[in-house]
Amino acid sequence: MESEITIIVVVEHDQSGIKPVTYELLNAARKLADTGKIIALYFAGAEEADESTLIHHGADEVRICIHPDYHQYIHETYEAGLLNEIEKIKPDIVLMPASNSGKELSAAVATRLGVALATDCIDLQLSLEGEVTIKRPVFAGKAYSQCKLGGSKPYLITLRPNIFRGEGADETRNGETVREKISLPDFLNLELTREVGAKLDITEARIIVSGGLGMQGPENFKLLEDLAEVLGAAVAASRPVVDNGWQEYSHQVGQTGRTVSPDLYIACGMSGAVQHLAGMSSSRCIVAINSDPNAAIFSVADYGIVGNALEIVPLLTQEFKRILEG
Ligand SMILES: Cc1cc2nc3c(=O)[nH]c(=O)nc-3n(C[C@H](O)[C@H](O)[C@H](O)COP(=O)(O)OP(=O)(O)OC[C@H]3O[C@@H](n4cnc5c(N)ncnc54)[C@H](O)[C@@H]3O)c2cc1C
Repeated sequence: MESEITIIVVVEHDQSGIKPVTYELLNAARKLADTGKIIALYFAGAEEADESTLIHHGADEVRICIHPDYHQYIHETYEAGLLNEIEKIKPDIVLMPASNSGKELSAAVATRLGVALATDCIDLQLSLEGEVTIKRPVFAGKAYSQCKLGGSKPYLITLRPNIFRGEGADETRNGETVREKISLPDFLNLELTREVGAKLDITEARIIVSGGLGMQGPENFKLLEDLAEVLGAAVAASRPVVDNGWQEYSHQVGQTGRTVSPDLYIACGMSGAVQHLAGMSSSRCIVAINSDPNAAIFSVADYGIVGNALEIVPLLTQEFKRILEG
């Protein structure tokens, strides 16, 4: 069965190029069905989309669907394009990242097709009989749900970023590229406004510097931004910080915010409420800075610093800068 399986991986990209989460999807697809056919589907605004890295990361074929509206993600244009390609290719599985756009697109397409959608998966298995089983966290990360997907195909699956990293590119891999100019319904009035100053999406960041109410006020988030800049990290926040208007909602981590799995999560002035832990406890290494030695965040932290975050964060920035520049 494995050799016959066809998997579409939807390429996520922005002005700065292909997002690294796409390579994770290709890695997951290759691991799921090494002898199957993996098609990277690239909705591109212009002809010069670069397909070679997609092939080096595991795609057998790159389909570049070109239309001027694809210079940025707009839900309606992507939905129309993906439905079209699914109709042509008839894949068994479609993989997307559990990013904002991946969640929106997968839900829309699954609803339109009336097929299964498994979201935020952290493991995928394919049996010899061709059955697909997924694993995903439920109840705010306190338990895992394992499900066998059924019903008509394709199965739509979104994968949690930072979980399926592979070995990197294999530049000896070869693949095929298909370029086609496509037509879409007229969406001329649709234009996406990007959040000003949003540098790095927190769900994709490998390092996150996160602040809670213990940062005392919005002006002190500058300390976190300085540390983030030195580390190449994204800045995140707890819910009350967002409720107070100190940070945008897109930075909120937790049960009612976003789920992140970075290599390093530095929690500054955060108590470690269960609703916050739900969004970050799968981080590979957690460092907590809190003035209260009994704060719950220390129970999940790999390293803890008891003290005033307003004093400790600038010291960390200074020290990391010295080490990294040295
Ligand atoms: C249904 C529901 C959903 C929720 N969803 C979310 C969610 O998605 N995300 C989320 O984050 N929360 C969520 N919450 C809120 C959650 O319960 C907590 O209230 C929140 O996480 C606490 O945020 P905090 O740690 O920033 O603030 P606090 O709990 O007030 O903690 C501040 C911490 O800072 C420490 N501190 C104070 N001053 C300093 C200093 N100078 N230096 C170092 N440390 C200092 C204190 O010791 C304290 O531990 C939700 C709640 C509910 C009921």
